[in-house]
Amino acid sequence: MSDCIFCKIIEGKIPCKKVYEDGDMLAFHDINPQAPVHFMIVPKKHVDSLARAGEPDAPVLGRMLAVAARLAREQGSPDGFRTIVNTGRIGRQDVYHLHIHILGGPDPLPRMIARE
Ligand code: 5GP
Ligand code: ZN
Repeated sequence: MSDCIFCKIIEGKIPCKKVYEDGDMLAFHDINPQAPVHFMIVPKKHVDSLARAGEPDAPVLGRMLAVAARLAREQGSPDGFRTIVNTGRIGRQDVYHLHIHILGGPDPLPRMIARE
């Protein structure tokens, strides 16, 4: 998608700090990290959000989750991590290219949802 920032990262038109890449997905560090380890895994195929994903996307989404633990360990989160998929207006999604946030580090994260 031409005006999608993550598609531009996937195409190499915008630089990123790459964590992992294969034919189906790219993982890269969040530009504004919320934890000592914070990267995202995105499918190379543009899908707006989890609300728009369909069953044909299931194999790639499954693989994205399946690589998460290894990547989190390699990035410095050896003892668990948090996955977040912000979806749509209610989920406060900012970038409309489906992505899984992986957050962690050496110490436990804050509780899951901060109250405003
Ligand atoms: P969302 O709220 O959509 O789940 O999160 C989007 C995330 O993308 C944010 O955490 C934001 O910091 C990150 N982000 C936005 N633009 C860029 C960018 O150009 N490069 C990288 N690496 N991350 C970005
Ligand atoms: Zn995209």
